[in-house]
Amino acid sequence: MALRTGDQYAEKLTKMQPNVYVGGRKITRDDELLQPAINTIKFTFAAATDPEFSEMACAKSHLTGETISRFTHVHRSIEDLMVKQEMTRVLCRKVGGCIQRCMAADALNGVGVVSKEIDDAKGTNYHDNFLKFLEYYQKNDVVGNAAQTDVKGDRSKRPHQQEDLDLYLRVVERKSDGIVVRGAKAHNTIAPYADELIVLPTRNLTKEEGDWAVAFAIPADTEGVKLICRVSAPRQRRELKAPFNTYGMADSMTVFDDVFVPWERVFMCGEWELGARLALLFANYHRHTYCGCKPAVTDIIMGATALLAEYNGVGNASHIREEISELMVIAELVFAAGIAASVKGKATSSGIYEPDFLYSNTGRYLAGKNIYHEYDIMAATAGGLPATIPPEDDFLNPEISEYLHKYIMRKPDVSSEKVHRLFRFVSDFSCSAFGGVNQYAGVHGGGSPIMEKIGIRANYDLEARKDMVKYLAGITD
Ligand SMILES: Cc1cc2nc3c(=O)[nH]c(=O)nc-3n(C[C@H](O)[C@H](O)[C@H](O)COP(=O)(O)OP(=O)(O)OC[C@H]3O[C@@H](n4cnc5c(N)ncnc54)[C@H](O)[C@@H]3O)c2cc1C
Repeated sequence: MALRTGDQYAEKLTKMQPNVYVGGRKITRDDELLQPAINTIKFTFAAATDPEFSEMACAKSHLTGETISRFTHVHRSIEDLMVKQEMTRVLCRKVGGCIQRCMAADALNGVGVVSKEIDDAKGTNYHDNFLKFLEYYQKNDVVGNAAQTDVKGDRSKRPHQQEDLDLYLRVVERKSDGIVVRGAKAHNTIAPYADELIVLPTRNLTKEEGDWAVAFAIPADTEGVKLICRVSAPRQRRELKAPFNTYGMADSMTVFDDVFVPWERVFMCGEWELGARLALLFANYHRHTYCGCKPAVTDIIMGATALLAEYNGVGNASHIREEISELMVIAELVFAAGIAASVKGKATSSGIYEPDFLYSNTGRYLAGKNIYHEYDIMAATAGGLPATIPPEDDFLNPEISEYLHKYIMRKPDVSSEKVHRLFRFVSDFSCSAFGGVNQYAGVHGGGSPIMEKIGIRANYDLEARKDMVKYLAGITD
């Protein structure tokens, strides 16, 4: 078995070179600020050996035959795609949001497919590099990130047209033993507590843009890498402990200040024609994953909305029941799009399966467009208390605690503690700094809705639909 424990993972982090910056200071990876985020990743290690999850959380390596974490696996079948999506929904429900390790798995799959396609087209040797990296990744149960999104500068300009050419990450030097890269990747979830960074291009590239067509993997503490972070977690509790408040996440602007990457860790370098294929394929895998994680978020919003209504004594109010039905429709349509993308998935020349682009993008689009609507339903049902609930310390102050417990009561058969717990959860989940980050993640993570729309339109046979109507209307050209 090639499985690590959460403690082994956390212990390894303490041995890494400090290059993480939070709030103006450089921290080590055992800093308490990172602990909620590290707890989320520890949960993925625990899930691999927990009988409740292990069947879906583990896979068999096609390279070594060993049992590995599914987060280090590449999809060898339609079944693999389906299990990944299901696992994502199940694990996200348990941590109350993003499970985070999926990003690197999506990057691995994308790089695995495209490194082979480049070799097929150009006679290069990138896929061997990938397979060696994958074996190391699986054997060591590595935690990776996906560093795709460039900072991008002026959005109306291509990489080679930017005033500062580093605004998209690029190769600045090619040496006999490797390459030197410079630039920065934005919004990199998990990077500050990942072992490895997996870097890939963010967009289509033109022939002037060979230097920007680069994909590679390096340890996250490689010299020249700087991880400038924002950490976020639900508010910490003093006594009213709850599982949700033990987890969190962090992301970084990941700066590559002339970073050396040895050739054996390079998976693309200069093949601009395949830049779009890799960028879109990672997006395809990640949007397929969203068809698992986003329904989990809707599950939580739905459960909270139903409980709020029940505790408030309006569980049977018809307008609230209607809105909860709408949440059910959104959750299951997004999930169904992921299933469709899996079932219509196809093997690539590498043997790795890719999900159907149209359905994974349709699912992700639907999820992104509805996220604020879903929070709106929950907020409307909650009333104002998630915004104004007094801090936990007031509930612990004997002078005023009695009043708070008396006046927070709703239905007499629901204790004040349960009401307190529910409203504090909803406040932490939605009406907090952490909630705000997750709302933006719901819109933009995996690609903003407009990007899915563009992708869908580019791959949709609209002409066939026009011909259909011409036929029905008796129009001949
Ligand atoms: C919480 C969170 C976690 C994330 N995690 C990761 C991660 O781990 N790894 C990673 O690589 N990325 C990650 N992302 C990045 C995510 O994929 C991007 O936010 C998303 O692709 C949008 O890019 P952007 O933020 O640069 O916004 P922009 O590109 O600035 O887009 C904003 C809007 O500008 C408009 N726009 C942009 N460009 C154009 C154009 N050329 N023409 C016309 N209109 C345009 C569109 O309307 C678009 O919706 C994460 C994002 C969030 C919010």
